[in-house]
Amino acid sequence: MSNLDKSNPDQQLPDAVPVAKSDDEWRRELTPDEYRVLRQAGTERPFTGEYWDSREEGVYACRACGAELFASGQKFDAHCGWPSFWAPLAEGSVRYLRDSALGMERIEVRCASCDSHLGHVFEGEGFGTPTDQRYCINSVSLSLRPAR
Ligand SMILES: [Zn+2]
Repeated sequence: MSNLDKSNPDQQLPDAVPVAKSDDEWRRELTPDEYRVLRQAGTERPFTGEYWDSREEGVYACRACGAELFASGQKFDAHCGWPSFWAPLAEGSVRYLRDSALGMERIEVRCASCDSHLGHVFEGEGFGTPTDQRYCINSVSLSLRPAR
């Protein structure tokens, strides 16, 4: 089963993603919480994830496929209850989709490697970061690889 809306071209899956697994495979490999967020675009409750206030140095990889997505150097404290970054590790490591769910126009952020949901990106909030963008990412979508 897919929850993609075929009438909205923005919601189409790309022709090929490097990591393409069936829904059953994802369901087996991920915990229920991971599956709900990563594969069903769910959102963890704020201030509950393991990384929202983490200041540990390292690289944040996709919990589903292991692709490196964000780095602690671009993490900042937005007091919003989710890990927040002002830029991805590299442009191209994530992809963007228009999300009109819940009556809001938002930009969804997905892993470019496996198309899993990560969170949303907001702009112009005045956080004083180099980009004035806030990648608001679910902790459960990420796995921190600490710097050694
Ligand atoms: Zn991924």
